[in-house]
Amino acid sequence: MNTTAAPTPVPVRDLLPAIVAAAAMLVLLYLVQFDQGAVSQTGSFLHELVHDARHLLGVPCH
Ligand SMILES: [Zn+2]
Repeated sequence: MNTTAAPTPVPVRDLLPAIVAAAAMLVLLYLVQFDQGAVSQTGSFLHELVHDARHLLGVPCH
């Protein structure tokens, strides 16, 4: 007797919130770790705003 259940396919529509959340987290990680104002057009504002987070994460800064 086979007791192994067949895997149930997950519709892509059900994965959409996770995909959007992952993309948002990648953007946030970029802004915290690498943005120097050239992409975000905020000058040094964003850099200074997340400066302590950069150091907390060990990102090379200054
Ligand atoms: Zn720094």
